[in-house]
Amino acid sequence: MNGADTYDVVIIGGGAAGLSAALLLGRSRRRVAVVDAGKPRNLRAEHIHGYLTRDGIPPAKFLELAREEVRSYGVELIDATAEEVYPDRRVCLDGGRILAARQIILASGLRDVLPDLEGAHAQWGRGLFQCPYCHGWEYQGRALAVLGTGASSVQQAQLVRQFSSDVTLFIHEMADPDPQTAADLASCGVKVVRGRVRALVAGPESLTGVRLENGELAACEALFYEPGATVDTSIVKTPNCRMSENGCVSTDGIGRTSVEGVWATGNAADPAAQVIVAAGDSYRVAVAVNAKLIEDDLAKARNTTAVSPTK
Ligand SMILES: Cc1cc2nc3c(=O)[nH]c(=O)nc-3n(C[C@H](O)[C@H](O)[C@H](O)COP(=O)(O)OP(=O)(O)OC[C@H]3O[C@@H](n4cnc5c(N)ncnc54)[C@H](O)[C@@H]3O)c2cc1C
Repeated sequence: MNGADTYDVVIIGGGAAGLSAALLLGRSRRRVAVVDAGKPRNLRAEHIHGYLTRDGIPPAKFLELAREEVRSYGVELIDATAEEVYPDRRVCLDGGRILAARQIILASGLRDVLPDLEGAHAQWGRGLFQCPYCHGWEYQGRALAVLGTGASSVQQAQLVRQFSSDVTLFIHEMADPDPQTAADLASCGVKVVRGRVRALVAGPESLTGVRLENGELAACEALFYEPGATVDTSIVKTPNCRMSENGCVSTDGIGRTSVEGVWATGNAADPAAQVIVAAGDSYRVAVAVNAKLIEDDLAKARNTTAVSPTK
């Protein structure tokens, strides 16, 4: 696979995961390309929280710094969408450019499925959030709520309760809590409101409440819910990787997928990975990818220098 567009590693996705892998591989003097469509999952959030030394940084600033860093090690950043991964590890980009890779890392993140509520898209990352650890602190002591989508919404309500004593669990789509769960929620002061939520209601600055289907308005300044996250399978399905039950690419402990030479990391492999986890996991995966390249180089060298039998 010689030629101008041949790389040791092509990384699909330039979010925290892809750029972290690129940093390690660039510093290992590998020829690396990162192909990025420029739509990180947290694009709508104003700040990234919980990343040591970067707490509160805007997502766009974080990526700008990360891109600068990897560029300084010779990593090529390509603003494009990867459309297909061929079995011989060539990656086809929109516009027709083809990149040949010895190894491919899928770091293409995931897509969140937002609840079917009026105003959900406008409030996503502003007053509607998926993670209390990321945004709970900023809303402490305020009127908070959880949208019931399944059994795990009860745990989410108990977690949100950590940030405020004014927490409401809207039953919405989940089953009514059993008596023990209802008692547990009552004991930690979580109010349970039956009925479906129809819309998010916002003022000029922020979320002010939710409108129930019966027309009632309930005050709330931040609504948490567990998104039905899905990986953007349009790219990850093209190398035909085995998928996990959670909708992500299935990997072993070091990011190897079921397809030889294709690796996955960050939210593409783990929907629960926050930014620091996605970056950390990718560092580990990149070490394994580099080890694989060394192994392949050694095997090649042994074949070329193998002593030929004497006549
Ligand atoms: C509203 C919101 C707020 C959040 N707040 C926080 C927070 O405060 N702290 C925190 O730790 N986490 C937060 N998160 C979680 C955070 O977004 C993820 O942990 C993080 O984005 C995962 O990084 P990633 O690199 O795996 O994926 P992403 O950041 O999503 O990056 C994937 C990249 O791949 C690109 N891509 C996808 N398909 C292709 C393709 N075919 N070709 C080329 N490029 C492609 C995408 O455009 C994107 O740029 C938040 C999430 C949301 C939804």
